[in-house]
Amino acid sequence: MTAEPSRLVDSYGRPHNNLRISVTDRCNIRCVYCMPEQVTFLPRAELLTFEEIERFVRITLTLGIDKVRLTGGEPLVRRDLPRLVEKLAAIPGLRDTGLTTNGVLLAPVARTLRDAGLKRINVSLDTLNPARFQQLTRRPGLEQVIEGIIAAKDAGFDPVKVNAVAMRGSTEDDVVPLGKFARQHGLELRFIEYMPLDAGHQWEREKVLFAADIIAILERGVGPLLPAPDQDPRAPALDYEYVDGGGRVGFIASVSRPFCMSCNRIRLTSDGKLRNCLFSLEETDIRGLLRGGAGEAQIAQAVRDCVAAKWEGHEINTARFIQPDRLMHAIGG
Ligand code: SAM
Repeated sequence: MTAEPSRLVDSYGRPHNNLRISVTDRCNIRCVYCMPEQVTFLPRAELLTFEEIERFVRITLTLGIDKVRLTGGEPLVRRDLPRLVEKLAAIPGLRDTGLTTNGVLLAPVARTLRDAGLKRINVSLDTLNPARFQQLTRRPGLEQVIEGIIAAKDAGFDPVKVNAVAMRGSTEDDVVPLGKFARQHGLELRFIEYMPLDAGHQWEREKVLFAADIIAILERGVGPLLPAPDQDPRAPALDYEYVDGGGRVGFIASVSRPFCMSCNRIRLTSDGKLRNCLFSLEETDIRGLLRGGAGEAQIAQAVRDCVAAKWEGHEINTARFIQPDRLMHAIGG
């Protein structure tokens, strides 16, 4: 069967239905693996407006995008974010609207976001130790993040996912406390292998704490795990379940087990550049089209061309790998 020409299928046959939208490059913390302390942020006029984002989402919907996730930078530092959520949630055919946040500003707006139509929420949290939090994020705020996670649960998000970046020689001691915390509060914990998108190009393969190591730490400190029986083969997370029924743990093993061949994602940066991979070296200027009077067909074609040009994989594990100039906070994780 040949793919419908209107669908976003790349030259390796991968269909794309998942759009990540960064709403800002600003952040209220400075995670060492993500962002330098000193950053020149984009001027406001360069950020896509909510109306431009909504128009773009409506166009991509005609191409098969039905899942959107808002990210950043820190999406909750963008003023009036619930208004964007409301606009997106009202688009017929958009199945899923999610948010990835560091949680610092979440508690007071969790219910508003839920009421605005947000379906899923992921909160990033690497440690439960206040001193380590300060060291990793270069800011205080652990208490607010925990309050945010609890507020998200209370607002009815289920599951609340907690994402922790896994760095060898750095986050091993945080694995078991996070595992126990997630079980206690009924959260879905996911470990993300540290990826080369960091400021100062400090990444080395030796600094990645692999999924297999984390599984061993959790089994020793929390309890036995087994691969989850109902895995979605297209999902980036490798899911495990505690044998005692105490919940699930996921692993985004981008380095030790790349999932590029089932990648269904494209990413729009806050300044309106479309990327077909976190690690792309090229971008498509959607903002230029949106502001330059381009019609829907022209914008849709630009999206198709961007997807068609997608590489086979990210090549982190090869000598050919080139780290993109854009850092994670400016792409949207
Ligand atoms: N500020 C929001 C947050 O903290 O969730 C959204 C943006 S942040 C870039 C999205 C996710 O990317 C977070 O879970 C963060 O921990 C993760 N991340 C950032 N840099 C990373 C890196 N070098 N390797 C792996 N994950 C990274």
